Amino acid sequence: MAVPKRKTSPSRRNMRRSHEALHTEAHGECPNCGELKRPHHVCGSCGYYDGREIAPAGDKLKVVVRT
Ligand SMILES: [Zn+2]
Repeated sequence: MAVPKRKTSPSRRNMRRSHEALHTEAHGECPNCGELKRPHHVCGSCGYYDGREIAPAGDKLKVVVRT
């Protein structure tokens, strides 16, 4: 089994992790209810997409837009 020659220092470890932060998702307002939603996705709040109700409103659509 390949084994690291040296322990990764906190500095090296943190340099590696500097690229691991979560970034914001693309988002916009739902034209129907104004809630934030992801583009090209059914609105998690009202269930509308492209002007039509796709999923019943108030149902458990768990959509969270990370801003
Ligand atoms: Zn909506």
